[in-house]
Amino acid sequence: MTVWTHDRWRFPLPDGHRFPIDKYSLLRERAETAGVEVREAEPVPWAWLEAVHDPALLDRIRTGTLTVREQRGLGIPWSPELVERGRRSVGGTVAAARFALENGGLGMNLGGGTHHAGRAFARGYCLFNDVAVALDHMRAEAGARRALVVDCDVHQGDGTADLLAADPDCFTLSLHGARNYPFQRIASDLDVDLPSGTGDEGYLEALERALDHAIPRGGAELAFYLAGADPWHGDRLGRLALTKDGLRRRDELVLDRLRDAGAAVCVVLAGGYAEDVRDTVDIHAATVAAVARHVEPRAPAAR
Ligand SMILES: [Zn+2]
Repeated sequence: MTVWTHDRWRFPLPDGHRFPIDKYSLLRERAETAGVEVREAEPVPWAWLEAVHDPALLDRIRTGTLTVREQRGLGIPWSPELVERGRRSVGGTVAAARFALENGGLGMNLGGGTHHAGRAFARGYCLFNDVAVALDHMRAEAGARRALVVDCDVHQGDGTADLLAADPDCFTLSLHGARNYPFQRIASDLDVDLPSGTGDEGYLEALERALDHAIPRGGAELAFYLAGADPWHGDRLGRLALTKDGLRRRDELVLDRLRDAGAAVCVVLAGGYAEDVRDTVDIHAATVAAVARHVEPRAPAAR
């Protein structure tokens, strides 16, 4: 199995900042130890970003001239390194989506899931919307039109909804904590608001119902799965109460259903803010393992 990363492109953060910069390199190590091939993502050209995002916003990002309000909403300080990393994070999702389509199966980026970036806004630690850019580019490059986004990060996917909810060939599903960021929502095709404290069983039932609704409407050739680690009970920014086992069952359910529906699946990480970053890495590493299990039975050697 092959996955993509951009973990070596770090950026300056103030001491004690909650952005989990270390999870990416720790996850790369875990994946390599498990025998997964990890490739480094290339930065996407600005033209690919311009096909999706407001050119004036991109100009402010490129030149470091975000307004004070934009800078506050982004929540991480601008730096040239941050911009380079952001372009590589999108590049990883594009590469993983391409790999999934070309191999009729699954691809994964050990990053991405930056779902709070919309057409003309970059906020909540999200500079560019990797999923929207990858979909746009795969439509141009591979002719894949119909898409489905299954967003299981604990926060609502407002940026993705801004970019894709009105797209008739893309169904956007977001399953998230009702009382959590972002507090002003942009509606997805289907938003599932879960009460604080929802645990494994309630979550998995709601997810199953949502997939029953979304998958037939999506009719997707290409699906994106945002496997956020932040629904975990110990997460500092989540308000749900899933266990690591519940999150594993979530991954299995989503991957089984999407693969049964015949979609190529691109998996991305999204958030994860455990006190001890190793808990977040455990959850993401379990997603990598779930993806590997779903890849192998369909690998060419096994046919
Ligand atoms: Zn999140």
